[in-house]
Amino acid sequence: RAKENGRNNFSFFTQQLGQETSSRLTLENALRRALHQQAFQLFYQPKIDIHQGKLKGFEALIRWNDEHLGFVSPADFIPMAEQLGLIDSLGNWVLHEACQQLKWWQKAGLDVVPIAINISARQLASPHFEASIHQALQDSKIPAYLLELELTESCFLPEHAEAIACMLHRLRQLGIKISIDDFGTGYSSLSYLKRLPLDTLKIDASFVRELPHAHDDCQIAITIIAMAKALGLNVVAEGIETYEQLTFLREQGCEQGQGYYLGRPSPANQVVTWLAQDWHTQVYDH
Ligand code: C2E
Ligand code: MG
Ligand code: MG
Ligand code: MG
Repeated sequence: RAKENGRNNFSFFTQQLGQETSSRLTLENALRRALHQQAFQLFYQPKIDIHQGKLKGFEALIRWNDEHLGFVSPADFIPMAEQLGLIDSLGNWVLHEACQQLKWWQKAGLDVVPIAINISARQLASPHFEASIHQALQDSKIPAYLLELELTESCFLPEHAEAIACMLHRLRQLGIKISIDDFGTGYSSLSYLKRLPLDTLKIDASFVRELPHAHDDCQIAITIIAMAKALGLNVVAEGIETYEQLTFLREQGCEQGQGYYLGRPSPANQVVTWLAQDWHTQVYDH
């Protein structure tokens, strides 16, 4: 009886494993196919000056709605693209798409604001990264200051830190802006803050979610804001979903905000409306 159970367990186990492996394979194949067909889309989320009520920029967020799998989250397929060595081509697509979009808005006579793109650790460490930035700027002819890179603390692991810092200094000299995303959630030492040419710290959404009720989160937000100011950096709070959170952050001196309360990530056609919108009312009226 024990033996039988054991066998059943084993077959259950292999079946599970088989399912996981095959769904991983399905995802892998679908991702390769999607890359080949360029079946991705960029959504844009506004970054708002929460004091003056002004649109300061957009963050580009990749979307993949697969014909068979449906919507797949970037939180799932970006790590997979990194593992499979597909992140360079995926990242390149994002970079070119964002630059082309900026060029298109410029051509349409719109008063454009910068677009930030997310860069994953492997992508930043790739020997082709710097050249791909130059190429995208050259192809689109947009000025470098319209492009911002969002990096996470995981980009600054000691083994690459030195070379990456040098490259970032060169890119910054071109006029490209650099921000640290999800600030406060990584394990890296704070010493990278003084060695890198940074413009902005983004307070991670996990510290914003329970503002202004959770004492610890309030203190963490206040501390990040103070540190950013002391270092001469801009500070943006991510994941603002309520008027209460917005007000707390504004009162603490946080300059910019992003989140569903201000605007959900949306397709490019929404941007035209946002560029003309009255954000002052949006940030002050309850
Ligand atoms: P992230 O860069 O920290 O982006 C913020 C995430 O929070 C986005 O999720 C956004 O849709 C979501 N978000 C924005 N406002 C709110 C809010 O008020 N409430 C809540 N609950 N969520 C909000 P998304 O688009 O699913 O992206 C997840 C992560 O995937 C991103 O985190 C980023 O690390 C990565 N990612 C997205 N697009 C790209 C890309 O083009 N390239 C790379 N390398 N990574 C990307
Ligand atoms: Mg980001
Ligand atoms: Mg973030
Ligand atoms: Mg994140």
